[in-house]
Amino acid sequence: MSATQLASVLFPMPVPEPFDYLIPADLDVKQGDFVLAVLGTRTVRGVVWKIRNKTQVDAGRTLKVIKEVLPHPPLPQSCMDFVDFVARYTCHLQGVVLRMVLSNPDALMPSPTHTLYGPGTKVPSRLTPARKKVLEAAKGGFSSASELARKAGVSTGVITSLAKAGGLVVQTRQTDRPFDPPDPVPGKLDLTDIQRDAANALIALTRQDGFAPALLDGVTGSGKTEVYFDAIADVLRRDASAQVLVLLPEIALTQDILARFTRRFGAQPAQWHSDRTAGQRRRVWREVIMGRARIVVGARSALFLPFANLHLIVVDEEHDTSYKQEEGVLYHARDMAVVRAKIAKTAIILASATPGLETMQNARSGRYAHVRLPARPGAAVLPPISTIDLREHPPEAKKWLSAPLIDAMHQTLTRQEQCLLFLNRRGYAPLTICRHCGERMKAPDSDTYLVEHRYSGRLICHLTGYSIPKPDACPACGTKDSLHPVGPGVERLHEEVLERFADKRIEVFSSDTAADAASVHDMISRMENGDIDIMIGTQIAAKGHNFPNLTMVGVVDADMGLHGADLRAGERTWQTLMQVAGRAGRAHKPGRALLQTHQPDHEAIMALCSGNREAFMAAELSLREDMGFPPFGRLAALIFSAGTEAEASKAAGTFVAAAPVVQGVDIWGPSAPPLARVRGRWRRRLLLRADRRVDLSAMITAWRARVKLPRHVRLKIDIDPYSFL
Ligand code: ADP
Repeated sequence: MSATQLASVLFPMPVPEPFDYLIPADLDVKQGDFVLAVLGTRTVRGVVWKIRNKTQVDAGRTLKVIKEVLPHPPLPQSCMDFVDFVARYTCHLQGVVLRMVLSNPDALMPSPTHTLYGPGTKVPSRLTPARKKVLEAAKGGFSSASELARKAGVSTGVITSLAKAGGLVVQTRQTDRPFDPPDPVPGKLDLTDIQRDAANALIALTRQDGFAPALLDGVTGSGKTEVYFDAIADVLRRDASAQVLVLLPEIALTQDILARFTRRFGAQPAQWHSDRTAGQRRRVWREVIMGRARIVVGARSALFLPFANLHLIVVDEEHDTSYKQEEGVLYHARDMAVVRAKIAKTAIILASATPGLETMQNARSGRYAHVRLPARPGAAVLPPISTIDLREHPPEAKKWLSAPLIDAMHQTLTRQEQCLLFLNRRGYAPLTICRHCGERMKAPDSDTYLVEHRYSGRLICHLTGYSIPKPDACPACGTKDSLHPVGPGVERLHEEVLERFADKRIEVFSSDTAADAASVHDMISRMENGDIDIMIGTQIAAKGHNFPNLTMVGVVDADMGLHGADLRAGERTWQTLMQVAGRAGRAHKPGRALLQTHQPDHEAIMALCSGNREAFMAAELSLREDMGFPPFGRLAALIFSAGTEAEASKAAGTFVAAAPVVQGVDIWGPSAPPLARVRGRWRRRLLLRADRRVDLSAMITAWRARVKLPRHVRLKIDIDPYSFL
């Protein structure tokens, strides 16, 4: 064997780069092929990342050979380029990012099959009563042996013997059926002229050959979904093999949007999210790489599916913070979707009623096309928003509703209309304190307070999920019945509302009271149908639901998100309150939103009340520009953690001491973050700020390579951090 070519093979495991192997002369190996090769003592499946000719240097190396080329479709080049980019940008190992692509190894194998039995053409000579029952049951069509046996009330042995005797026809079918192709017929709705123009603008972008990003900017109900449906339909119509990816936040809970896809395109889209079974994911993965899944609707990890012919990406609710992946490889799915589109040279539509500041800036500067959709006649309109100054109207002791808010609720309910009280805090009380000794109930392994959940009788850490039954006595001083709740959660607010509005139908809507898609759906339809008078909801109630008879939204604590040293605090408060206020009122039934606040003159609150989004954005942007923060500069967080505080502190110190001197980079820290301990590990944080022209990822990668950290110290690198805890 004389090999003249080498293959660099990347393995889906924690390796920093591909390894070289010789290609035997009798093997036909191409870039993207899945191959088997020996790594250490094991034979492992990897992907051929690159092929090159053998050089003199290689002649001196002892290289292993590729053992086998697997009969799978190759990994598309754009997918490989995406892995390279994500690994480099997020400072994670290339092999670990590849593992996110190959999340489902079974999907590479041919589909498993199953056997079905249907009515045969001949009647066997020996017809026992059991066989007769089977023939009768089989008239209904094809089914599995066990199902048919159950229907006929016989054992499966009867089925197989009857099939052998020719009494039943046997069919072998693929378990992972291809998805039904979508039918990209024109929509049945008559788009308004403005919607038509918006759809045409998006279609024009998708028809360009190349990367074309757009912000689709319009209030909830303006028709963004209908408009991007039109763009999707056009893409599918023009290219019979084109694939479209639609990212949605919290897709597992929003089944209604999937039903809309099915109605619009006459076939269910492929769905990709963590609640799907392994079998369902295997089917989606295979159909995507085969190019047969045309529309994929998924959560952020769907970005890593091996699309063969991606032509359009839609990121719905692009501002949603759940697009940021905070575990494992840390990435922002909206930003990486833009990269994916750039690599695939396609259009991408970012849709939102409250676009993120980064996206707004891209639209303002002309990097993204800005397609606007004003409110549609007849659709929900943004109600007038006003404040209730809690300094003037303080609620009674241990109560949370001010007199003006209670009045407004009475007026609304008298008109037989609905109220929504928004409080983004699950559980009964965020803090539990001992009245006797002052002990605060904290998680044993994290720097968090335990939140009392009275419905379940437990104290829960919202960060890690740790929970204990609420003790009868203070664990510190042993005094009985001394543990006392401080502050409100939705469950406590529920108590107050029950007291004040005893004859009304009241529901709490949070991820505790509606934990799965079915109960979310149930809660929403009961509100839609008017079966609830007062809904008390967390974030989950703020999402774009349409409640036609809801005319009053009361925000119990509008200041909540404004605390803390988070650069996005103002923006996020504005987004959340805008979304929740938008639940109240329609053109023919005006509503109102009331914000209880201690800071009525805070910029975000004033912007909400005046409806002057542009002024608010401009003010926030200029603040960010002055500080050199995103989108005008770059940020990265480095989080060190170790078993003891001293170790974490020492590691961070050693790391900072080795910092490169790079112009245009500021290094802040190390400091003990608000969450100084999580799951028993002590933490230290560094925050880096850099001018836009600095390649912060490359700088960090080189820096890390120079410093040897002790084995038990972990370093988490968070490029573009959204959490500062
Ligand atoms: P958004 O995505 O901006 O929230 P949607 O596309 O979901 O808006 O539209 C809100 C509702 O209004 C949907 O039920 C949609 O079918 C309906 N709708 C939108 N545009 C029209 C139109 N031109 N005619 C009739 N119904 C429409």
